[in-house]
Amino acid sequence: MKPVKKNIQDGSICILGIGFDQNSSFQKGASLAPDRIRESYFSESSNLWSEKGLDLGSVKHLYDLGNIDFKTGMEDFNHITNSVKAVLDQGSHLICLGGDHSITFPVIKAYAQKYDCLNILHLDAHPDLYDSLEGNIYSHACPFARIMEKKLAKRLVQAGIRTMTGHQREQAQKFDVEVNEMKDGINWLDSLEFEGPVYLSLDLDCLDPAFAPGVSHHEPGGITTRQVIDIIHRLKGKIIGADIVEYNPDRDLGSMTSMVAAKLLKEIIARIHEDTI
Ligand code: MN
Ligand code: MN
Repeated sequence: MKPVKKNIQDGSICILGIGFDQNSSFQKGASLAPDRIRESYFSESSNLWSEKGLDLGSVKHLYDLGNIDFKTGMEDFNHITNSVKAVLDQGSHLICLGGDHSITFPVIKAYAQKYDCLNILHLDAHPDLYDSLEGNIYSHACPFARIMEKKLAKRLVQAGIRTMTGHQREQAQKFDVEVNEMKDGINWLDSLEFEGPVYLSLDLDCLDPAFAPGVSHHEPGGITTRQVIDIIHRLKGKIIGADIVEYNPDRDLGSMTSMVAAKLLKEIIARIHEDTI
């Protein structure tokens, strides 16, 4: 990952930090995530090869765009949308590092301007479909309600879900969300297939807290790190962008969870490289 000096080349892959956690309902801390994930990405305890054999250190057009600066005085969500749009307009693929999950709404606003028929695969313990939470319609518990009511995606598939409420079941029905709940097992991967571009929104609390304790909401009964990697490897569809959100360094044990985030980042970069380059 190289810092960008000039314009980004068409077909490159970029990483952008969005350390924004003002819409977290329970605990702040995710704002510190992007730099910690970068540290783990480059940690000498591992290497820069993907499992399927891509040397990420040799990928020519892989760039780190740094973090969005939120001290510009611009309204935060518009600033996120404009920053993401500027990257997509240059023909680059983008992986955003949150931040809490509220950032996915302004991020997808930019993607929707580029892709008419966007599919989203959303891995999370939570459906994040609340119409509002504690009076905040932009809460990290609401992004997929905002995305679907504005018709920014043609298809939303969720997996890892284990905190459905009555209200969110109604919301899922209203927006035709395909929800794969943990109670129903994880065989959905084999039958799932996407037509058109797929955006992967990866909330780290989709993982069982045993694998990723560094998140604000510990929700037992989740998927394993291995299963998330298998999803990244085996998903039938073309992944064109992604986010990794909700890493909270304040809750981590050592760097256990940032290493998970960094590993998943490597596998996502490799998958986007394989799908699009
Ligand atoms: Mn979430
Ligand atoms: Mn979650």
